[in-house]
Amino acid sequence: MNNEFIINENLQKLIDETELEIKGQLEKIDKVSLLNSMKVLKAFQDNNISDMHFNSTTGYGYNDIGRDTIEKLFSQVLKAEDSLVRSQFISGTHALTVALFALLRPGDTMLSITGKPYDTLDEVIGIVDNPSSLKSYNINFKQIDLIEDDFDYEKIQEALKNEKIKLIEIQRSRGYAVRKSITIDKVEKVIQKIREIDKDVIIMIDNCYCEFVGEKEPLEVGADIIVGSLIKNLGGGIAPNGAYIAGRKDLVHLAGERLTAPGEGKEVGPTLGINKSILQGLFFAPSVVASSLKTAVFTSNILQKLGYEVEPLYTDERADIVQTIRFGNEKDIIRYCQGIQMGSPIDSNSIPEPWDMPGYTDKIIMAAGAFTQGSSIELSCDGPIRPPYIAFQQGGLTYEYGKLGVIKAIENLKK
Ligand SMILES: *Cc1c(COP(=O)(O)O)cnc(C)c1O
Repeated sequence: MNNEFIINENLQKLIDETELEIKGQLEKIDKVSLLNSMKVLKAFQDNNISDMHFNSTTGYGYNDIGRDTIEKLFSQVLKAEDSLVRSQFISGTHALTVALFALLRPGDTMLSITGKPYDTLDEVIGIVDNPSSLKSYNINFKQIDLIEDDFDYEKIQEALKNEKIKLIEIQRSRGYAVRKSITIDKVEKVIQKIREIDKDVIIMIDNCYCEFVGEKEPLEVGADIIVGSLIKNLGGGIAPNGAYIAGRKDLVHLAGERLTAPGEGKEVGPTLGINKSILQGLFFAPSVVASSLKTAVFTSNILQKLGYEVEPLYTDERADIVQTIRFGNEKDIIRYCQGIQMGSPIDSNSIPEPWDMPGYTDKIIMAAGAFTQGSSIELSCDGPIRPPYIAFQQGGLTYEYGKLGVIKAIENLKK
C-alpha cells in the first residue's frame, strides 16, 4: 500500500498471504450476494417502485403509500405474508419486545431453544427483574441450551410433549455467547422436529445479523415470524434507524396493534421522509452484507495467523456477519477495539473505554466510528470485559474500508 497508510513490511507480507488464502471464500460470498441482489431487484420491479414512494407523511401517517409498498417489498424479499418495517422501532431489541408482548398472554410460556437470549432481552423477559417485564405479566420463560452448537432436539420434543408452549424463540446469531451461529439448515431441521409434536406453537426467529448471509431466510423453512434491525444487515448502512417484523399475516397484525394501538395497528405511522433511505438501504444490503462478510473472513484468517483463536475459521460456513476473536486478556481486547475506532471514518480521534451500558450486565467496550449511532453493519467491534475477553466484530460498509480498519486495529494491538 502507498504512503498514505504506512504499514510495516512484516504486516504487509501477512496481508498479502491472507488475501491469497481467502480468495476462494470471497468468490463464494460474491455468488450469494448476486443471488440476493436479484431477489431485491425483482421485488423493486414487481412493486413498481417509483418517485412517489419516496413521499413523506407526518402526524398519524395515514395512507402512506411509500410505507405500505416498502412493507410489500420487504415481504416479497423475506417470503413473508406481511411485514412491519418501521422507524418507530427504536432498535432490534424494541422490535423483539413488541413481538413478544404482542404474541404472549398471561399464563403463556415462551421457550428459547438457543439457550439464554440476547443480553438486552434479560429485563424484557424478566430473567433480570424489571417491573415491566413479561414475567411481571405472569408470562413464563424457559430455555433449552444448545449442545455442541446444535439444538437439543430430544429435549425440545420432550418439552413440547410435557406442556403447552405458546412461543419458541430461536436466536440465530450468537449475541455475546461463545457459540456458533445457527445455519438455515439447522433452523429447518429443528422446525421439522418441532412440527412433529406441535403444529401450533409460534416459531419466532431473532434474525439479527443473519439476513442475506445465505440464500434463504427463515420463513422459507417454516418459521412463523422473524425480527431484525435496520441498523444491521437489511438497512444496508443507509437506513437511519428502525427494525422489521415479518411473517404470518395474523401475527404481524398483532405486532402492529402492539407497536401503535389496538384498532390502529399498521394503518398509522408517519414516515417523516425516510422512505427513500429505507429503499436505498435494502437495495445496497446484499453487497454491504457481502462486504461485511469479506471483512470478517479477512479478520479471521489474519488474526489466526497472529496466534489468536477465532470463530468462525475463515473457511467455515457462516450464518451471521459476526467474527469473534478471543484475546484472553483485558489489555489486548481494549487495544484492538481502540484500533478499530482509530481506523473508522467518524470519531477516529476518540478512544473508547469500557462502560456500563444500559441493558447489559458486564462492562462493555464498544468501538463504532459509524455514520449512524450504534450501527453495527458499519465496522464495529465490541465485547464484554470478562474472561476469556472475546471481541465480537462485525460490519464493514465496503470491504476496502473494513480491511483498512482491521489493519489499523492490528497495528494498535502490536504496538
Ligand atoms: C443486535 C441484536 C439484537 C438487537 O439489538 P439492538 O441493538 O437493540 O438492535 C438482538 N439479538 C441479536 C442476536 C442481536 O445481534
